[in-house]
Amino acid sequence: MSHVFPRHCHSQLPTAVGGEGVWLIDADGKRYLDGSGGAAVSCLGHGDAEVTQAIKDQLDKLAFAHTGFLTSEPAEALADLLIAHAPGDLDRVYFVSGGSEATEAAIKLARQFWVEKGQPQRSRLIARRQSYHGNTIGALSAGGNEWRRQQFGPLLLDVSHIAPCYDYRDRQDDETPEEYGLRAADALRDEILRVGPETVMAFMAEPVVGATAGALPPAPGYFRRIREICDEFDILLILDEVMCGMGRTGTLFACEQDHVDPDILCIAKGLGAGYQPIGAMLCSAGIYDTIAGGSGFFQHGHTYIGHPVATAAGLAVVSAILDRGLLAQVQAKGEALQQKLEARFGQHPHVGDIRGRGLFRGIELVEDRATKAPFDPARGVAGKLKKAAFANGLICYPMAGTIDGRRGDHILLAPPFIISDEETDILIDRLAGAIETVL
Ligand code: PLP
Repeated sequence: MSHVFPRHCHSQLPTAVGGEGVWLIDADGKRYLDGSGGAAVSCLGHGDAEVTQAIKDQLDKLAFAHTGFLTSEPAEALADLLIAHAPGDLDRVYFVSGGSEATEAAIKLARQFWVEKGQPQRSRLIARRQSYHGNTIGALSAGGNEWRRQQFGPLLLDVSHIAPCYDYRDRQDDETPEEYGLRAADALRDEILRVGPETVMAFMAEPVVGATAGALPPAPGYFRRIREICDEFDILLILDEVMCGMGRTGTLFACEQDHVDPDILCIAKGLGAGYQPIGAMLCSAGIYDTIAGGSGFFQHGHTYIGHPVATAAGLAVVSAILDRGLLAQVQAKGEALQQKLEARFGQHPHVGDIRGRGLFRGIELVEDRATKAPFDPARGVAGKLKKAAFANGLICYPMAGTIDGRRGDHILLAPPFIISDEETDILIDRLAGAIETVL
C-alpha cells in the first residue's frame, strides 16, 4: 500500500521511471506523449542534458545557502537575465518555489507597497472570474475557479471578481474584437468606481488564461485599456504568467504581445521546466524603491527563496530558451498546431472553439455548436477525455471549469517546445481517438 497522499485518493497511478524528449515512460515500459508538459511545465521536454548538467555542477559547488545571510551566483545571474528581457521597468526579482508562492508574494507586496506609500486604506484586490492564480489562501482568493474555492469560502480574502475577456462566449454579433476588448476592460473601471478607487490596491489577471479556460487569449487592445484604467486610478497591475510565460506563447513573456507593462509579473512552471521547483515575482523599480526607501524590508519570505540549485536550473532553462532559438520555433510550431487542430477538429459537432497562442492551445467542447451550450456537468466530459487520452498514451489537460454557472469543458495542450512534426501528428491522432471514444 502506498503512503503517498495522492491528488485523487482512489486513483491507481502508474509509476513514472523515465523521460526522453516529449515522452514519459512508466515502470511497465508504456510511453506517454507529454502533450501538455504536465501542466505547461516541461517546456524543454524531458532529459535535457545541458540543464541536468547545470544542476549537477551547482550541486558540486553549493547546494544551499540561506538568503537571510548570503546571496548566490546562480540567483544573481538568473535575476540579471530575466530583468534584461523583462518588459517595462521591472527591475527586481523575488525568487520562490512555485506559482502559488509567486502570486501570494505579489498580493502581499502590493499591499505593503500601499502601506509604505501612506495609503493603508488600499487593501482590495480585483481579479477575474475566469482565472486560476494558485491554491494558497491569498492566491485561491484571487482565482475565480468555483470548484476549487467552494469549501474554503470562509477562509478567503474579500476579492472582487469581474467578468473575463472571453471573445468566444461574450462578444456580441455586432461588435468587432477590438470593440469587445474595450468593453470587457471597462468592467474593471466599473468595479473600481463601485468599490471606491481609494480602496483598491491592485488588479490581477493572466494574459492568456490557462487552466480555467483553455488557452484563452485576450481580445486585441484589452490589456492596453486595462493598463490605462490602472494608471487612471493609480492601481497596480499584476500579471500572472505562471502558465503562459517563459516562451510558451512565442515570446518570453506573454504580455509582450499585448504591449502592456505590468507593475508586478509572476512566473513559475516553465522557468524551471520541471527540472527544479522554482517561481519568481518581478517588480518595478518604483515598487522596490518604495520598500527600500521605507521600511527596507519586504515582510515576507520562505526558507527556500533563491535556492542555488533551483536558480541554476532556471538559468540553464532560460538560457536554453533564448540561445537555442526556441521562441521562433514556438511561434512556427504553434501556428502549425493550430492549423492541424482546425483541420482535424474544426468541423467536429462538439468542438466550439480552437484557440491560443504559440504552443499554448485550447479546444472548447460544447454540446451544441450552434447555441454554444456546454455539456451537462453530470456527463463529466473533461474527466473522461483525460482518462481516454491517457489510456491512448497521451497526456493532455482537460478541465471542467464551472465558471459563471457555465460548464466550460476544454482541453489544454502545451507540448514541449522541442516537439517534432511527427510527434505533433501522433498527439493529434491520439487526441482524436480519445474524443471519438468519449463523444
Ligand atoms: N497561476 C497560474 C496562472 C497557474 O496556472 C497556476 C498553476 O496551474 C498557478 C498560478 C499556481 O502555480 P503552482 O501550482 O506552481 O503553485
